[in-house]
Amino acid sequence: MIVIKFGGTSVQDAQAIGRVISIVEDRLAEKPVVVVSALARVTRLLVKIAEEAKMQNQRTVSDLMAQLRERHVALSRELISDGPILADCLSSINSQCDSLSDFAEGVCRIGELSLRSNARIISTGEMLSSTIIAAAMNDKGLKAKWLDARRMIITNDDYMSARPDMEETEGDIRWLIPEAFKGADVILTQGFVASTKEGSTSVLGFEGSDYSAAIFGMALRASRVEIWTDVDGIRTADPRVVEDTCRIEKVSYEEAASMAWLGARVLHPLTIEPARSRNIPIYVKNSYNIPCEGSAVVRGDLSTSGPKSIAFREDVDYLEVRSRTLTGTETMTARVMDILTSRRIKVCLLNYSQALLCLTLEKDQPGFDEALSEISALGEATLYRDKAQLSVVGKDVVELSGLRDTVRSCAGKVAMIHDDPVGMSESYVVDLAGVRETVKELHKRIFGK
Ligand code: ADP
Ligand code: ASP
Ligand code: MG
Repeated sequence: MIVIKFGGTSVQDAQAIGRVISIVEDRLAEKPVVVVSALARVTRLLVKIAEEAKMQNQRTVSDLMAQLRERHVALSRELISDGPILADCLSSINSQCDSLSDFAEGVCRIGELSLRSNARIISTGEMLSSTIIAAAMNDKGLKAKWLDARRMIITNDDYMSARPDMEETEGDIRWLIPEAFKGADVILTQGFVASTKEGSTSVLGFEGSDYSAAIFGMALRASRVEIWTDVDGIRTADPRVVEDTCRIEKVSYEEAASMAWLGARVLHPLTIEPARSRNIPIYVKNSYNIPCEGSAVVRGDLSTSGPKSIAFREDVDYLEVRSRTLTGTETMTARVMDILTSRRIKVCLLNYSQALLCLTLEKDQPGFDEALSEISALGEATLYRDKAQLSVVGKDVVELSGLRDTVRSCAGKVAMIHDDPVGMSESYVVDLAGVRETVKELHKRIFGK
């Protein structure tokens, strides 16, 4: 069995879905389980619907709902020939949209949006896209079976960033998928979407479809997981920011996990571990350039040392907490971490010395303001909202000479330098305003031809 995941841009319109079907068709002998994201930009539209409903803007909600319905109905008509398959598909799309409209109307009425309601709303994108793609596959003569991921991926009740109970999830997948393959050539299911033990819809966090694919791969002991996106594999930097990036043929699980954690959005950070745990290779490929080999994420000993990629994050704040005494920051650090973890606030990089604790954190996390006021009681806390972090990733990259001078000469002041203890990355906190230029310059110096 193999798992094939298609991201939003790979299923954005009829042409893209046509390519998806041909990729799947070429792999039927390998029993593909296909995991799809919502159509490009649909999750964003759903986020907007949820926000507008919370603000009780009923008119806007119904306009956005109409857009959602029209896009999916028009795509179904373009992809699927007239007949019972199209009729079933349209009836399912319409009933899913009706049910979402009713739900959003309820949110409008009370003007409150719980995390559970939010997850219910934004999961609709994958439910709709998978309905259309399964129908289109059947219309083209593939025997495709649609399966509801909510019956398989069972999570805790952290609805918007839910974490699976792997044992239960694995059991469900290993039972339901082989059953579904009886009489079918391909199984089609949703990324991102899951359900709690009580049966409420949850989601695995934004960009979480990659993670879903890895979970299916792990549970099924798949021979590989393919992640199809809109770039020629994992690259030496984000090609939307840096020109002349190069494709990386092979990266290790550890390097890929570091890259994702440090901001390379090509793979969701949680994707690697399920695959690594069963030694399943992940291939990242371009659905707009099918012949390109893409990148392989493989065992560490199959990948070479040296810098592989530059990642950066502009969505972080930088926090310094200065101890009021010179007696050491260990206790203060432990208490700060306690405050943050008890509120489920995610920390990205952390350094501490005798008198100073420095960390970067994702911006705008719920509960952070309260945490910061508690932290301020422990030491002198300063929050910088105008910083970003950039990282050079690759096995033994901390041994690379001249990196620091290069970053300093491009970025000016460096607020924090972080060496990954296992040598997989070196990160810098610099001014947000100059981070992209620094990434470009660093890329030129490290990877320039
Ligand atoms: P999908 O919708 O398929 O999940 P994403 O937009 O989430 O696609 O991820 C693909 C994008 O990741 C690319 O278009 C690219 O801009 C970005 N990206 C960031 N860093 C890298 C990198 N090092 N290599 C490749 N792509 C990267
Ligand atoms: N559709 C979800 C998102 O846009 C999940 C994903 O695409 O991975 O975040
Ligand atoms: Mg993605």
